[in-house]
Amino acid sequence: MQNWSKNVDFNDRAYFQPETLAELQELVRTHQKIRVRGTAHCFNEIANTSSYAINLAQMPKTIEVDADKQSVLVAAGLTYGDLAPALHSQGWALGNMASLPHISIAGSISTGTHGSGIKNQNLANQVLSLDLVTAEGELRHIDRANPAFNVLVVGLGLGGVVYQYELKIEPTFEIRQVIYPEIPLDVLQRNFDQIMGTAYSVSYFTDWSSAQVGNLWCKFRDEEVIPESVGGSTKADQKYHPIPSVDPVACTEQLEVAGDWHDRLSHFKLEFTPSVGEEIQTEFFVSRKDAAAAIEAVLRLGEEITPLLWITELRTIAADSLWLSGAFDRDTLAIHFTWKKMDAIYPVIEKVEAALRPFNYRPHWGKVFTANANYLSSVYPKIGEFKALVEALDPTRKFENSFTRSSLS
Ligand SMILES: Cc1cc2nc3c(=O)[nH]c(=O)nc-3n(C[C@H](O)[C@H](O)[C@H](O)COP(=O)(O)OP(=O)(O)OC[C@H]3O[C@@H](n4cnc5c(N)ncnc54)[C@H](O)[C@@H]3O)c2cc1C
Repeated sequence: MQNWSKNVDFNDRAYFQPETLAELQELVRTHQKIRVRGTAHCFNEIANTSSYAINLAQMPKTIEVDADKQSVLVAAGLTYGDLAPALHSQGWALGNMASLPHISIAGSISTGTHGSGIKNQNLANQVLSLDLVTAEGELRHIDRANPAFNVLVVGLGLGGVVYQYELKIEPTFEIRQVIYPEIPLDVLQRNFDQIMGTAYSVSYFTDWSSAQVGNLWCKFRDEEVIPESVGGSTKADQKYHPIPSVDPVACTEQLEVAGDWHDRLSHFKLEFTPSVGEEIQTEFFVSRKDAAAAIEAVLRLGEEITPLLWITELRTIAADSLWLSGAFDRDTLAIHFTWKKMDAIYPVIEKVEAALRPFNYRPHWGKVFTANANYLSSVYPKIGEFKALVEALDPTRKFENSFTRSSLS
């Protein structure tokens, strides 16, 4: 078995797919080492194990809306592609989505997966409570009042196996997607908050080439006014893929055509391969107040980056209090790279990390990075306390793997 991008071979001794909570609890209780895996869309070793792997795709497909609480109880192993249309058909919505709906809810939340929006936090902040199976096989309910909540939501699979979540929902809404092509990077740098605040969710796609321009993807909610032009660029009259040379057939509708939130907030349609397929992703989070300087630092590497790159996406994420979230305690710019699948990318990734070090960049837990545990503990200030709490919960370190050992040691 391999991960989605086929750059990681899984070493599982066995792969279990329990069908009931009792079966899941028994598997966790009776195995010395076990690692839970979602849809395997991470680009690094985070979901790998040389021991036993467990996956929740065959568990009961719970989706229960509580209209009074504006929440949904959802099975952790479902994907956003399972949840979103079911919510919409009952008149409800999630506040945001990642660029694709194919990923599991638990796998996404556990790595701090995010969409975009100056005011939008990452997907883990939709969690109101979670039920997780502990190392002893006990079911434990953790809500926002519990001091362990901020520790365990973005938990990298270390706190236990999340069985179900209660997620915050809101009345369903529509989105109109509009693209403003070829906005110069320097215009973006000078007006970063204003341009990235054009709509509810905004992404800027660039390849760092000498043209120094990028396409601005804006997702407007019902009530938002759509400007004729942004940053000197007028609304596109054709459909785009994030990589301008690729056929946009896989992309959700654009050109201002109103559609349900779940058909627009992601860039890619569920029934198509998202992104390019043959790719490796990296992503680094810096404080939004450093946006112009951090962009400048990456731009200086443009000549080396562009030939190896499919595309970069710049997004914003609002600050939160989840200890291992990339946006912990700071409003964030996410600088994402979709690389061509070539060995030559790795030295350049290290150079990008070095260029962003003055900005205390944090790497996305689910993507490729080279930073070591020392560096990670300097930029995720609560890592020490996280480790202590996880060790108290799981003294035999049942859920760890080589990735978490080397990243958190
Ligand atoms: C094409 C593509 C586009 C992407 N776009 C985005 C994007 O827009 N934004 C973004 O932030 N990321 C994005 N990603 C990255 C991806 O969404 C995340 O890495 C996410 O973690 C993938 O979820 P998964 O279920 O596949 O996780 P997996 O790789 O299966 O697992 C990830 C982690 O979650 C843990 N985990 C899984 N299930 C459970 C559970 N039940 N209980 C406890 N822990 C659990 C695992 O132990 C592991 O540590 C993209 C990836 C791809 C391939």
